[in-house]
Amino acid sequence: MEAYILPKMTWPEIKEALQTANIALIPIGAQEQHGHHLAEGCDSYRAEAFCALLAKRSFPKVVVAPTINYGVSPHHMDFPGTITLRPETLIAVLEDIVHSLERHGIKKFLFVNAHGGNSTTIGVAAENLARKYDVEIAHTKFVDAAKNVIQEEIESTHFGHACEREISECLYMVPEIVRKDLVEKGDMNEDSFALQYTKSDFVKVVYQFNEITNNGNLGDGTKGSVELGEKIIEEALDGLSAFIDEFSVSKR
Ligand SMILES: [Zn+2]
Repeated sequence: MEAYILPKMTWPEIKEALQTANIALIPIGAQEQHGHHLAEGCDSYRAEAFCALLAKRSFPKVVVAPTINYGVSPHHMDFPGTITLRPETLIAVLEDIVHSLERHGIKKFLFVNAHGGNSTTIGVAAENLARKYDVEIAHTKFVDAAKNVIQEEIESTHFGHACEREISECLYMVPEIVRKDLVEKGDMNEDSFALQYTKSDFVKVVYQFNEITNNGNLGDGTKGSVELGEKIIEEALDGLSAFIDEFSVSKR
C-alpha cells in the first residue's frame, strides 16, 4: 500500500495503518457549475486527487477520509446542476466525521478544501470542534500553499474559478473532467459592482456568480496547461507535506 485511503481499506488494514498514521485528511469539494469546460464535480475531484497525492507523499503518517462531495455554493445556484449545502449542514457533517474518527483514536485532522465558498464555514467548524473535542484541527484551501507559482505565472486580474489555475490543476490530476475543445476565457461583467469588490482586501460583498460572469468562469482558461498544473500541485504538496511532518509530531 502506498497511501492509506480509508474507503479502499478493510478494518484490519486500517487498524494496522493507525499504528503509524495519526492524522486524518478530510477532502472537501463542491457540486457546482464550472463554466462550459469543467465538470461540476471539479472541486470534489481536485480535493480527492490532491489528498491521494499528499497521502502518498506523507506515507505512512496520514489516512484519507471519504471526500465530502458537496459544499457551500449558493452563489452558483443560478446555473443548472449546482447543489448547495447550508453552512450548518457542512459543519454538522464535519463534526460527525471527526467524532467518528476520534473514536478510532485519531486526534489530529487536516481539512483539505478545494472550494473557496467553503472557507468561512470550515473555519467555524474547525473553531467549534477544536474547543468541543480533545482533537487538534488544521485546515487549508490547498492552492493557497502554491502562492509562488500562482503569483509568478497567472496574469489575469480576476481568477480563481474555472480559470487557468483550476483548469491546469485538472489537466494535471483529473484530465477526464476537462472539455478540452470548449475551453474559453471568462466572459466577465467588468463594471459590475460585485466584481470590483471581489479582490478588495478590506471588504467582502456577498454576490451571485452570474452578476460577475456570463459564462460561469473567471480568468482565461485558454492559458491553462498541464505544466502549470504540475507546478501548482507540486508546490502545494511541498508546503503541506512539510506541515504534516511537523503536525504529526507536534505536542500541545
Ligand atoms: Zn472550482
